[in-house]
Amino acid sequence: MENTNEKIVECPGCGIKLINRHFTLLGNYNASGECYQKYSDLSCYTIGKQDIDFIHQHSIDAYSTQHSGNGMKPITTAFSLIGLYYAVEKGFNGRQVQRVHTLLSRQKYNWKELQPPDKSVYSLTVFDVLN
Ligand SMILES: [Zn+2]
Repeated sequence: MENTNEKIVECPGCGIKLINRHFTLLGNYNASGECYQKYSDLSCYTIGKQDIDFIHQHSIDAYSTQHSGNGMKPITTAFSLIGLYYAVEKGFNGRQVQRVHTLLSRQKYNWKELQPPDKSVYSLTVFDVLN
């Protein structure tokens, strides 16, 4: 009899539990390969839209924020959080957030490593957005 726990993999970033397909994680995300595959599927959709508002930027920022850690550069986490701030609090579209990132990147700043909150399961994951 197979152990059912081996059939499921839990993402260390967002906590989503998916069927373990033994995908390899590419990139410096604190994610399971299976979760990252869902993000890749979502990216195909958001990039494929070629929309003027560039919703893909929000996808990048949300996923990077939820999956910070595992060698991710501090600037990536900081920029993602800043991007989400401008999107949620200021109503910026993805293109405007991208512009903020460009302006910030011109300044030399030693971004400190930010620690993610204690492990928790998020109420919304890339899987929900993809569906
Ligand atoms: Zn995840």
